[in-house]
Amino acid sequence: MSFGNLNIIDPLCRALAKEGYTAPTPIQTLAIPHLLNGKDLMGIAQTGTGKTAAFVLPILQKISEQHKSALPGVPRALIIAPTRELAAQIDQSFATYGQFLRFRHTVVFGGVRQGPQVKMLSQGVDVLVATPGRLLDLMNQGYIMLRGVEFFVLDEIDRMLDMGFIKDMRRIVSALPQKHQSLFFSATLSREIGEFAEKLLTDPVRIEATPQASTLECIKQSVFFVDQNNKYPLLQGLIRDEDMERVLIFSRTKHRADKIAEALNKNRINADAIHGNKSQNQRTKAMHDFKSGRLRVLVATDIAARGIDVDDISHVINFDLPNEPESYVHRIGRTGRAGADGKAYSFCAADERNMLRGIERLTRTKVGIMEHQYHSETAKMAVGAAAESATSYRARATARGSRQESAHKSGPRKPYPVRRR
Ligand code: AMP
Repeated sequence: MSFGNLNIIDPLCRALAKEGYTAPTPIQTLAIPHLLNGKDLMGIAQTGTGKTAAFVLPILQKISEQHKSALPGVPRALIIAPTRELAAQIDQSFATYGQFLRFRHTVVFGGVRQGPQVKMLSQGVDVLVATPGRLLDLMNQGYIMLRGVEFFVLDEIDRMLDMGFIKDMRRIVSALPQKHQSLFFSATLSREIGEFAEKLLTDPVRIEATPQASTLECIKQSVFFVDQNNKYPLLQGLIRDEDMERVLIFSRTKHRADKIAEALNKNRINADAIHGNKSQNQRTKAMHDFKSGRLRVLVATDIAARGIDVDDISHVINFDLPNEPESYVHRIGRTGRAGADGKAYSFCAADERNMLRGIERLTRTKVGIMEHQYHSETAKMAVGAAAESATSYRARATARGSRQESAHKSGPRKPYPVRRR
């Protein structure tokens, strides 16, 4: 299969060849023909599957075939993403894939002055990528009108719901014209997402794609059982001894991300943190420094890390394990890109032991145990309440109580569906 076989036009094929893409990924092969035919789509796909190009390419192709000129503030394609980083990344994909086409695109997000964004919009825009809050602000001020939207994309709907954007999404959708093509993407499919999509999509094609197995297979996964108070010395030792060129560290909270970066810098290891409390300029600078190699270590929270698209990350370190096992797959997918070998190290304390079990169930693999000087047998053997953080244990106990009450109504919960190619 080639992009030409999918009837992708020559200027796009040339850009893809220049990027080194030789063949479409499974989601691209499945989605592109339907999207060129004008169908609505519900895509269940995570980062790393090539989902961005799966919607960017057909949109660019259709826009370029129409030969219409861009109108000020009236986009023809609107793409909504939950975070600034992801929005910027998608906008960059339009620029990269559309480098041999004439069209106008721009991105708007909060945390920066709106003046330059308004100026770009006033010059005419075919493709607008936006985060929900800033989009609504600019719509309310009359700088953006959605009456001309022909292509509407919601990316990472699950995260948008997690981040409380449901009302914003409804307000945006209500401003769209009756006739448009909608493309929805989510890494997971819950009942809430299913209902949301059902209301808004017309006879959609449903496509599911897990990250290419080869991506996960290229990643060597190891776990370090360690007590919480030994995580810092363990990290310091690893970073010094190991051949770690470009390291992405995940922490559970913003505060912890700052503390980790601080501790590393004290030991003369160049590190910075990105999370929701940092200004846009700080985040952009940290990303730029990480990409250019000036920064060896970047510490991030899950949400801030969405949309980080840096090749050649040699190691991902889960300083804390994520609450959701799906996040683990997102996190470690940042290394081992494009067939390169990558390593994913996870620090697991006793109160995270069940999270590791959840991850192993989801990925259907056993993570290899690493021997090291701070090894904690207590963490390795933890079960029951000791294997969960106090908050998650309480939440689970409460949920168990309310599930028992409502069991006769809703029946047992279905397990998270995992498919492997
Ligand atoms: P995404 O899932 O959209 O975040 O894409 C993940 C990564 O795969 C990005 O770095 C893309 O540049 C890359 N990519 C997308 N499509 C292809 C392709 N057909 N061949 C090779 N790499 C690709």
